[in-house]
Amino acid sequence: MKYLILIGVVVGLIWWIKFSRPAKPSAPAAEADNGPQPMVRCAHCGLHLPQNEAIDSANAVYCSQAHRDLAEPRA
Ligand SMILES: [Zn+2]
Repeated sequence: MKYLILIGVVVGLIWWIKFSRPAKPSAPAAEADNGPQPMVRCAHCGLHLPQNEAIDSANAVYCSQAHRDLAEPRA
């Protein structure tokens, strides 16, 4: 009788863990918020990166402020 109660508790615990989680797997937060991002290419080093992380310039896009400064030095 003792084992029946123990098995019942274990099965109940497994059932609770299984059904307390969301039914469908959720996408990673970053993807869900922004959706698929178009990729752009750094005009200095050629690195591909998401458009929302790129540094925009008048003529091109860059992967970082440093590469923008190297490619387009300020007078
Ligand atoms: Zn770069």
